[in-house]
Amino acid sequence: MTHTYDYDYFVIGGGSGGVRTARIAASLGAKVGLAESNKMGGTCVNVGCVPKKLMAYAADFPKSFTDAPGYGWSINGTPSFDWNDFITRKNNEINRLNGIYDGLLEKAGVTLYKAFASFIDKHTLKVGDETITADKIVIAAGGTPRYMKVPGEELTVTSDEIFFLEKQPEHIVIVGAGYIGVEFAHIFHGMGSKVTLVHRGDKVLRGFDEDIREKLQDDMKAQGINLCLECYVGEVKEKDGKYHVTLTDGCELEADCVLAAIGRIPNTAALNLDNIGIKHKENGQIKIDDYYRTNIDNIFAIGDITNNHNLTPVAIVEGQYLAERLYGDKSCDEPLCFEKIPTAVFSYPEISTVGITEDQAKERGYNVKCYKSTFRPMKYTLPDRQQKTMMKMVVDADTDKILGLHMIGLDAAEMMQGFAVAFVMGATKADFDKTVGIHPTSAEEYVTMK
Ligand code: FAD
Ligand code: NDP
Repeated sequence: MTHTYDYDYFVIGGGSGGVRTARIAASLGAKVGLAESNKMGGTCVNVGCVPKKLMAYAADFPKSFTDAPGYGWSINGTPSFDWNDFITRKNNEINRLNGIYDGLLEKAGVTLYKAFASFIDKHTLKVGDETITADKIVIAAGGTPRYMKVPGEELTVTSDEIFFLEKQPEHIVIVGAGYIGVEFAHIFHGMGSKVTLVHRGDKVLRGFDEDIREKLQDDMKAQGINLCLECYVGEVKEKDGKYHVTLTDGCELEADCVLAAIGRIPNTAALNLDNIGIKHKENGQIKIDDYYRTNIDNIFAIGDITNNHNLTPVAIVEGQYLAERLYGDKSCDEPLCFEKIPTAVFSYPEISTVGITEDQAKERGYNVKCYKSTFRPMKYTLPDRQQKTMMKMVVDADTDKILGLHMIGLDAAEMMQGFAVAFVMGATKADFDKTVGIHPTSAEEYVTMK
């Protein structure tokens, strides 16, 4: 018996992955609907990558003001930062992007429902007040910040709220030293707030190369960011408009804002997954196979909801791959490979990396040879800024293949994107050696390492 459905393909979530998969499926001839319960563009556009990067740009200006006299400029008067003006400008830009996302879907012929979707059965969804059926359904509902389970957690904010604070905090306590923790430490410190970072571990950014972690930690301390390591928040209390944070090591902090940056969990709670038997882990992470199929044959999941590599470009690539596999020429039977994802942390200094760390290479039994270069970027010489860049290359000495590139310093992210192409193509140290440098740049260090 053949069924007729309202849609061939229905997407839950209008974020990075959802929008891409909907657009591509529609362009390949499928009848597509998409439900988004919040603002179009998802985490990345509204409370993630984009506003975060704008804030990081704002935070970097004081360094340029300080360095300008080194290049002969006089800064007359003291530059000042207006939080509300900046937030208004940032919000205007995000609204502009929301509109672009709406337009992208409309142009592709995708029907947009500005409503929350949940499952009734494997082909039927409740979308706002409507009941909608679809042949195939893809869950691209993203993630949500994890809250600290401590007395007073309701007094803390997460990355969802930090972009909309009414006032810039004089002192912010940030809990967690992953991507979000160190990025917002840079942002608020750069904007002039006092920053205390509280972390349960002994070093920031677990999972990154040890040399990078150590250098970032030293540089954060040198800037004046207060690091409380190997401890956790015991409780948060409010008194006279301030937050009093008690740490497990007995330390007491008084702050205007407490940011919990302790990871994210998949957004599955209200989807009714259990009613239709979609398998997921305790934290909500939906189980998928190599082709983004859940255990229910017509239901798929992509992006942060699968909690694999929670990065925008990954969600986008997955969305594209799935739509092409389902509605394209069926040529993409090879699963996507995410062994070689470049990533950046917009800390100060900036970090970027592709491939495995020195420790991971050793654990995997490679005969590891490392090359390292630490230097002061030319831009910092005239202003005498004592900020160094460190570049590291991890090589398999037996095959000469590059296993990992790790960098901390000026323009790390912009630089790594290009080197990542060579890395993904399987470049060797000899390939880097025979590449002529661009002089004078920091990037040329990667092709002159001895
Ligand atoms: P999302 O973008 O989260 O989209 C999911 C959408 O689904 C949301 O809009 C949500 O409202 C909607 N939704 C959820 N449930 C339903 C429902 N039942 N019905 C209807 N709609 C629903 N990644 C990078 O690569 N670079 C960065 O610099 C970077 N910075 C970040 C900074 C922060 C502060 C955060 C939090 C994340 C950052 N990320 C960054 C990660 C990146 O934002 C995510 O990996 C990416 O947005 C995931 O895309 P997604 O499509 O899976 O989910
Ligand atoms: P991360 O997983 O990167 O870091 C979480 C931090 O919180 C770690 O320091 C972790 O410590 C700590 N932590 C975890 N659970 C607890 C707990 N129960 N109590 C105390 N501390 C805890 O998560 P983020 O929230 O920083 O970011 C979420 C994800 O968003 C990132 O993993 C990344 O995928 C994405 N993102 C990407 C960015 C980029 O590409 N530039 C920027 C921002 C976010 P420990 O190390 O000990 O586990």
